[in-house]
This record gives sequence, C-alpha cells and structure tokens, in this order.
Amino acid sequence: HAKERGRNNWQMYSEDLTHQAVERLKLENDIRKGLERGEFVLHYQPIVDTADSRIVGVEALLRWQHPERGLLEPSAFIPVAEESGLIIPLGHRALDAACAQGAAWQRAGIAPARIAVNLSGSQLRMPDFTHGLMALLAHHGLDAGRLVLELTEGLVMDGDPAIAAELHRLRAAGVHFALDDFGIGYSSIAHLKRLPIGSLKIDRSFVHGLFDNPNDAGITTAILAMARHLGLDVVAEGVETAAERDFLREAGCRTMQGYLFSPPRPAAEMETLLRDALREPA
Ligand code: C2E
Ligand code: MG
Ligand code: MG
Ligand code: MG
Repeated sequence: HAKERGRNNWQMYSEDLTHQAVERLKLENDIRKGLERGEFVLHYQPIVDTADSRIVGVEALLRWQHPERGLLEPSAFIPVAEESGLIIPLGHRALDAACAQGAAWQRAGIAPARIAVNLSGSQLRMPDFTHGLMALLAHHGLDAGRLVLELTEGLVMDGDPAIAAELHRLRAAGVHFALDDFGIGYSSIAHLKRLPIGSLKIDRSFVHGLFDNPNDAGITTAILAMARHLGLDVVAEGVETAAERDFLREAGCRTMQGYLFSPPRPAAEMETLLRDALREPA
C-alpha cells in the first residue's frame, strides 16, 4: 500500500465516491431499462412437507436476465432498487407474474397450496396497496387464499398502525403472511401476536450453523417452541443436508425449503416438478 499512501488521500477518496455514484446510477438506469424490456423473471423454489415429501408451496424469487451479465440474483439489484424506489415497479412486476403463474397452475389443477412472494416495505406503504392487490388477484383469477406475502422483521416490528391495519385488511380478504428471515433482527412477541402472521421462516444462517454453533441450534429450538405455543407454522430455510433436515424434524419442524430438496427453478421446470408430484403417490 506504499503507492496508495503516496497519493493524495482526499483525492482517492473522492474519486472512489464518484466511481461508486456513477456505477450506482448506471445500475439504476439498467434496472429501469430491464423493466421496460421484460428482463426480470421469477424462479420458483418448492417448500416441502418433509413428513410426506409433498410440495406444499413455492416461493417466487426474482432473477434478472441481464443482456450482458447473464442471470443475476437479487443481491445484485434489490439493494439499489430499494434505495432508488424502483422496488415499487419491480415488486409489482414480481407480484403480477406470480399471480399470473399461480392462476395458470390453478387452472391446470397443479397449483401448490401456497404461492409465496417477497414484499418490500415500500410496497405495503403505497396508498391503496390492498385494493391494488385484490384487483390483481381478480384480474388473473388467483384465489387470495393461495397467496402468501413474505414480510421482513423490520417492517413488521416498526409498530406502524397503518401497516398493521393494512395487514389485517389483506388477511380478512384471505391473503396469508409469513415473517421472512426470522431470528436475525429484533422481534417482539407482543407484536407478533397483534399481527395476522401465520408463519415464520427461520433464517438460513441458523440452519447453516446448526452443527457448528451451539447458539444457532439453541435459537432454532427456541423459535420452534415459541412458534408452537403461539400457533404459528414454521418453515426452515436453506436446508442443504440430510443432517440439517433430521435435526430440524427432531426439533419439531416439518416444513422446509432448501437445496436439499430443490434450488429455485425457472417456471417451466417448476411446472414439471408439480406435474410429476401429482403422478406419484404421495
Ligand atoms: P429470501 O426471501 O430469504 O429467499 C431465500 C433465499 O435463499 C433465496 O435467495 C434462495 O435462492 C436462497 N436459498 C434457498 N435455498 C437455499 C439453500 O439451501 N442454501 C442457500 N445458501 N441458499 C438458499 P435469492 O433468490 O438470492 O434471494 C435473495 C433475497 O432477495 C430473498 O431472500 C428476498 O429477500 C429478496 N427477493 C427475492 N425476490 C424478491 C422480490 O420479488 N421482491 C422483494 N422485495 N425481494 C425479493
Ligand atoms: Mg442466492
Ligand atoms: Mg422470502
Ligand atoms: Mg429468508
């Protein structure tokens, strides 16, 4: 680093910031263009009942088919989309596509019981989100009871009464809610009980640490016990090994999602899985 130290620190710092700002602006513009060109697609990952191996749900996960960079995962674009407000049209695109796909699977008689879509806080804070969503469901012909909106702890725990009211309205219309990445933020049980949340998704960092970190095993077991007492369903995320699956089952968790069962897949591949599952006796 001798060479760097020789240079003007302030100048380097400011060049770096300029570079970052330019990259960010470029990404923002690319997301905007990508939206216009329909480059954002959903992949679907099965959620499995490990007691009988049935697919009880699918989670829709955004992917960006970038013209130069190939298939991009959300970490490459969601943070900038959140900061720039582009998460609103992007999130709408995801909801629209998931509802259209869910309705098509429903008509084909192969829809899983639940179709989960991740929701950003800014979407829920849009005026008339509930009406918009109801119109979307009606437009595509998807049963509201098949839709699960995955929320983050931060959104749910900030205690905003307007958000709570919106969630209750949506729940009354049939929509389900899951609390995503559970355990990594701060969660108040009092809040959980006041909101119409039906399930918790244990963050994959805990599942990953089950055998290396005694705290992770303890936290996972505690979450499962708490959920049982509150009458909440639990989905364990990021299950990659049979040992993790067995530990979780032993601890009382039946429903799981992870590479052990299937990675997220393009819609057509997911459809093949759903058809095959119907052909086999459960
Ligand atoms: P998430 O909702 O917690 O989704 C689960 C993530 O775990 C997905 O990452 C999935 O591919 C990954 N995953 C699943 N099984 C395994 C496993 O066994 N091992 C490991 N290591 N990972 C696994 P992905 O697809 O990269 O999505 C990342 C995050 O981006 C999502 O986390 C979600 O918060 C956000 N996201 C995705 N789609 C949307 C969307 O339509 N709207 C919004 N607002 N956020 C989205
Ligand atoms: Mg990923
Ligand atoms: Mg999720
Ligand atoms: Mg998660």
